[in-house]
Formats: sequence, structure tokens, C-alpha cells
Amino acid sequence: TAKARRTGFAVFDQSQDSTDPRKLTLAGDLRRGIDEGQLVLHYQPKVDAQTGRVLGAEALVRWQHPEHGLIPPNDFIPLAEHTGLITPLTRFVLDSALKQCRAWLTAGHELTVAVNVSAHGLLDLDLPAEIAERLAHWRVPARLLTVEITETAIMTDPERALRVVEQLHALGVHLSIDDFGTGYSSMAYLKNLPVQELKIDRTFVSSMTTSERDAVIVRSTVELGRNLGLRVIAEGVEDIATWRQLDAAGCDALQGYYISRPVDPDAFDTWLGSRQAE
Ligand code: C2E
Ligand code: CA
Ligand code: CA
Ligand code: CA
Repeated sequence: TAKARRTGFAVFDQSQDSTDPRKLTLAGDLRRGIDEGQLVLHYQPKVDAQTGRVLGAEALVRWQHPEHGLIPPNDFIPLAEHTGLITPLTRFVLDSALKQCRAWLTAGHELTVAVNVSAHGLLDLDLPAEIAERLAHWRVPARLLTVEITETAIMTDPERALRVVEQLHALGVHLSIDDFGTGYSSMAYLKNLPVQELKIDRTFVSSMTTSERDAVIVRSTVELGRNLGLRVIAEGVEDIATWRQLDAAGCDALQGYYISRPVDPDAFDTWLGSRQAE
């Protein structure tokens, strides 16, 4: 449909996918993969722009496929979304990320953990209760969990998404608008949603040292966020020059390859240890 195309939700075009036998096989594989523990989370640190102190990490899912190796999320999240597997996937991601957050707490590190919840997750009216249950189970304070949401998620069914978002907010979970600036009506979401954080998409950040236009967009977005009392984080920081520009612009937190790529939990612990020894 025209709407599906406009929102970038080509995955909802069933006629395209149901006839592709390769995708059907992969869907079966994914169901088994979730059940058999083939999904893994990698963590990418978020640091304070002024001090470099580690604030927390974003959990990014990968699929350790027995034949195809490590599959990146963009290759299977759309599939999960339109086969309904996104619900068990999101449940796994939340549980696993909160378990990791508990492990950090036990080791003496109070770090936030961020998870990505896409369209179907945000339309799942059971999600808030499930999150509350998992927070209690792992004894993680709600404020240490950030849920990163995208505009596409909200646009699918704004009323229902708002109900879920408000319940998450009531739990004390932090909400972040992901990929900020890439959508059509980010401003409306800022106006209507109880969010605490705005995350500037890397398409603007990674080119801000070479494109004055992108630099202006980033600086204006930081100012907008700060004037609204939000925390502003930039993703896609790949060099020190970008870090300096973001800090000068007043951006609160940073994420990107310059600091660390997303890494498995053991490598994250090692990275954390080496940071603290500095
Ligand atoms: P995102 O939420 O915008 O995540 C940021 C992506 O940018 C990640 O890709 C990350 O590895 C990459 N990245 C981070 N720093 C840099 C950098 O400095 N330079 C460059 N070039 N890239 C950087 P990844 O891990 O492949 O994830 C892609 C997307 O998949 C994510 O985009 C997110 O939308 C989705 N995703 C990942 N995990 C989950 C999940 O558990 N659930 C859902 N629903 N979606 C997820
Ligand atoms: Ca994200
Ligand atoms: Ca992004
Ligand atoms: Ca995203």
C-alpha cells in the first residue's frame, strides 16, 4: 500500500514475502533459533560527552545461525516483525539485557541498559506488565532500563503505542526516541510522548565534521532537546573530531565505533575493566 511505502514498512507487504521460499525457511530457522538460544546480545557503551565516563550500554541483537554464522539484526528483524516472531524476540532481548544489567550491578557497576523495541513490541499491551515482572525478577531499578523507540513504531497505531509508552513511563522506565531526525514528524512525538532522551541518528552525526549542513542539523537538534529538558545522545561517533564538536554543542552522551563497537558481554567486561584502570 501507499502508506506502507511511505512509512518504510515494506515488510507488511505480505504478497512479496510469502512467496519467497528462502524467507520461509529462514522464518522456521528463526523460530527454532529463538527457542534454542541462538540469539545473542552485543553491547555498545554510551559515554558521557564531557568526561568520557561510561553511563551504560545499548543491547543489539545478533543471530548466531548454525550454518550462516553471525547474522546482523537488519537481516532478520523485518522477518521477525511480519511473522510475529518479534514478540518472543523482544521478550528474549529484554530478559537477557536485564540479566546482564543485574550482573553489572552485582559486580559494582551501576550502568543503564537500553533495548530497541520496534513497532509490534510497542503495540503489545502485555509489554509493560512483562517488563515490570522481569525488572522485579532481576532486581533491576526501572530507571536503569531505557527503551529505544522509533517513529515507525509509533506511527503504526499511535493511540495504542501511546498507551504502552505511558505505562512504561509510569513504571519509571526511561524512553528514548531513536533515529531522531530521520522520520517525518519527530516533533509531534516530542510534543506528545513522555520521553527523557532523544537519540540523534548517525546519518547526521557521522558526516558532521565534513558537512556544515549536517553539523547545523546536529547542533539545532541538541539545542532543541536541551531546551525541552531531554538528555541528548549521539550515535555513530567515529572519530575524536566528532566527539569534540558534539561536546561543544552541548550533547550529553555519545555512542560509536570511536568509543567501542558493539561487543559480546565478555569483551564488554574487559573493555570496562581497561577503562577503569586508566
Ligand atoms: P540502531 O538502533 O540505530 O542501532 C545502531 C546501529 O548502528 C547498530 O547496528 C550499531 O552497531 C551501529 N553503529 C554503532 N556505532 C556506529 C558507528 O560509529 N558507525 C557505524 N557505521 N555504525 C555504528 P546493528 O547492531 O547492526 O543494528 C541495526 C539496527 O537493528 C538497530 O539500529 C536497531 O534498529 C535494530 N536492532 C538491533 N537490535 C535490536 C533488537 O533487539 N530489537 C529490535 N526490535 N531491533 C533491534
Ligand atoms: Ca537504537
Ligand atoms: Ca540509528
Ligand atoms: Ca533504530
